[in-house]
Amino acid sequence: MESNSVLTIEDVNKTFGGLRALSDINLDIEEGKTHAIIGPNGAGKSTLLNVCIGRLAPDTGSVTFNGKNMVGLQPHEINHAGMVRVFQTPEIFPDLTLLQNVMIPALAKRDGMFCFNVFKDMRNQTDIRDEADHALEDVGLIKFRNNKADTISRGDKRRLELAMGLIQHPKLLLLDEPTAGMSRHDTNRTIELLQKIKERGMTKVIIEHDMHVVFSLADRISVLAQGEIIASGAPDEIRGNPIVKEAYLGGEEL
Ligand code: ADP
Ligand code: MG
Repeated sequence: MESNSVLTIEDVNKTFGGLRALSDINLDIEEGKTHAIIGPNGAGKSTLLNVCIGRLAPDTGSVTFNGKNMVGLQPHEINHAGMVRVFQTPEIFPDLTLLQNVMIPALAKRDGMFCFNVFKDMRNQTDIRDEADHALEDVGLIKFRNNKADTISRGDKRRLELAMGLIQHPKLLLLDEPTAGMSRHDTNRTIELLQKIKERGMTKVIIEHDMHVVFSLADRISVLAQGEIIASGAPDEIRGNPIVKEAYLGGEEL
């Protein structure tokens, strides 16, 4: 294991019935880096992510985060340890305001899940409210602060989810297809936002189909195909790798 690794995945295997979804996965995520995981549909990307966050148990192997094996821990315990996943399914509270939405994960982190009353306890939490305002400012949503979450656009909902992740000050942020279904304009805004976060040194794993997004953000890229990592390297190495081109794009230019 490299000494500056935040996350180390070792010898992870996962089968579903007869299907080998993950095959001997070994991966190091270095501190402060943005590591993209790309690969065709069905390659095992979501399975790998779900193993990391404790939603799926691997058949074998370990997931070491900050020096501790996460395998066997519950998703909320892994979240508490500082591994935060956003996107893919919008997990926001549609009837609450944006401000309340962002305050919830901060309150949950401080007081424990469900140990607070959303409406009663939020009024006096000035520290957390200020932090939530800051997170909303960060993602460009402060002007909708008091609007209900179901009134904002789809792209804004995804940025709201990002604010809910950021307020937890994650040690590792896992982004599952952050721009899926977004317009080009919204995609570019999200890229800018993720670049801004990157400058602060936050470690990120990003699963993404859109090569424009991947090459705009990644320091390192790993390519999954049929449950195996077929290549890992700097963006330029991956772009020029014939095996990757063949497996991923049927020979097209990346
Ligand atoms: P990706 O995210 O790269 O598109 P997935 O990780 O979702 O790929 O899926 C990898 C393979 O595992 C696919 O063949 C998929 O059908 C299968 N798979 C994923 N989740 C399950 C599950 N819960 N039960 C059975 N098969 C699954
Ligand atoms: Mg997937």
